[in-house]
Amino acid sequence: MRYEGSVYRPPSEARSLIIQVTIGCSHNTCTFCPMYSDKKFRVRSFEEVFADLKEARRSQAHVERIFFADGDALCLTTDKLLSLLGAVRAIFPECTRVSVYGRADNILRKSDDELRQLRDAGLGIIYVGAESGSAEVLRRVHKSETPEDIIKAVQRAENAGIPVSVTFISGLGGRELMEEHAVETGKMISQMGASYVGLLTLMLAPGTPMNEDVISGKFEQLTMDEVLKELELILNNADCKKDCVIRSNHASNRLVIKGTLPHDRERLLAQVHKAMHDEKMLRPDRFRGF
Ligand code: SF4
Repeated sequence: MRYEGSVYRPPSEARSLIIQVTIGCSHNTCTFCPMYSDKKFRVRSFEEVFADLKEARRSQAHVERIFFADGDALCLTTDKLLSLLGAVRAIFPECTRVSVYGRADNILRKSDDELRQLRDAGLGIIYVGAESGSAEVLRRVHKSETPEDIIKAVQRAENAGIPVSVTFISGLGGRELMEEHAVETGKMISQMGASYVGLLTLMLAPGTPMNEDVISGKFEQLTMDEVLKELELILNNADCKKDCVIRSNHASNRLVIKGTLPHDRERLLAQVHKAMHDEKMLRPDRFRGF
């Protein structure tokens, strides 16, 4: 397989075959994100991707799931995605799900009919990094999307029958915007109707603009106690009308929680309260990672 640079995938795609259909991220300006800063964005040709799929077929007898990388592969045109999904069906008839990272604006650029075509062609889940429900936090981190964009995009994909997994980053508002970040994130979780929500905890890589802000004192990171307080606020403001699986199983988190909102909210809150007084429940800092 020809992989270019570091390749990232969601935790739940650990066993999937990863195919790079784009290189890098078409946005690539979020101040906290080091993932694709060393890559110049480009779309891979159908021929290149097709050759990778054929090569993978030769070495893998059974492929249940495929993940299209890199950062926002859903930016591809619907025609291109349909061709790629068609190639997957032809080469891996046993594959039950193709998944992809996408930004809200990638979804909003597709019509409802296009989203349904993608679902019918095998697109089984979209991973969207919302990061925060706060308009001010999104503005400060240069996400270039509003909470309204994100809510609308998630609702449209879910209504077209494509489940969406949305990630948020604990601590992204820093100390100054902690409360706003938590309350507005809880509200976004309530309104958008995503099938899955994943929580990460802010970790900063050297060289990112946000890390420079920490060094200069412009941005104050949360302590672990504050991260737990923020999580409590998110859960208290998440009032989902349909079932939403929520988990914090990413390597960046110190507390792992997993449940389904709204039913498990009290249990998850009890877990957070217990962790506030019991450090043994927390993953040691040295075992955290991006
Ligand atoms: S957070 Fe997502 S959209 Fe922003 S630069 Fe990183 S990969 Fe691109």
